[in-house]
Amino acid sequence: MAQLKVDTHDQDFVKSISQLLSDAGVPSVLWGDYLLTVYGVPSVIGGIDFIIPDEKLPAAVAALKRSNLRRCPDPRLCAVSREDTPQPAPSFHMHIGTSELDVSIRARSKTLWFIPPVPENLYSDTRPQDSRYIFASDDSILPPPRHGRGRGAFSKEGFPVVVPTAHTMLEAYMRLSIAHRDEYGGFYISMMAYVAQYIDADGLLNDTKLPESCREFWHDFKLGQRRTREMMDELQNYFDNESTGERRGGR
Ligand SMILES: [Zn+2]
Repeated sequence: MAQLKVDTHDQDFVKSISQLLSDAGVPSVLWGDYLLTVYGVPSVIGGIDFIIPDEKLPAAVAALKRSNLRRCPDPRLCAVSREDTPQPAPSFHMHIGTSELDVSIRARSKTLWFIPPVPENLYSDTRPQDSRYIFASDDSILPPPRHGRGRGAFSKEGFPVVVPTAHTMLEAYMRLSIAHRDEYGGFYISMMAYVAQYIDADGLLNDTKLPESCREFWHDFKLGQRRTREMMDELQNYFDNESTGERRGGR
C-alpha cells in the first residue's frame, strides 16, 4: 500500500499524489481550488483535484484505492459527490485522513477536452514544450509564496506536478460555464472573478492567447458594464458555431 502523508495537504502531499498516479502510468494535471492557490489566489482549500486521461480512469482509481487515503463513507451524502454540489462532481474521490478534504479525479473529456493531452514525455523534459501546460515549480511564470496570497510556485524538489497555464484555466472556466450553464454557470463565473481579481491583476495572464471571442468576453467581463446573460449568450453562440464548424470540417 502506498503510504501517503495524509496528515497534511501541503505541496509534498500534492507531489506524492502526482507520483502515485504517474507510477500507475497516469499523467495528471492539477485542478480545482489547489490550482488557484498555486497562482496566488487566497482560497480555502476544499480539496486536491487532478485531471487525467479518460482511458486511465481505472488505473487511477486502482492506484488511489491501494493508498492509505480513506474511501468515501457515503458518496450520496458526501459534499464532494452528492447531487447538489456547487460544481460538477468528480469521476472518483477519496478522503484525506479523517478530514472532509478530498483527493478527486476528473476526466479530461469533462474539463480540458479542448486542448491536447499532456505529452507522454512530459516528466523527462525540464519544461513542457506545449504552452498549455507548465510545472507547478516554474517560478519564472508562477508567483512566489506571499503572506495571505496562496501558496505560489512549488519548490523544485520532489516529483513534478503539472498545471495548466493561466489562459488555459480561464478558457476552461469559460467553456465549462457554457457547457453547464444552467446548473453551474454561477460557479464558473465566480472562478473567472478570482482570475480577474488576483491572477490577471498580478500580470500572470496572457490573454492574447485566448481565442478572439473568449478575449472579447474577458474584456467585457472585467469592465462589468454589460449584462452577464447577454455576454454568455454570445459566448455560447461562439462555442456552438465552433463545434458545428468542426463537424463540417470533419466530413
Ligand atoms: Zn466523499
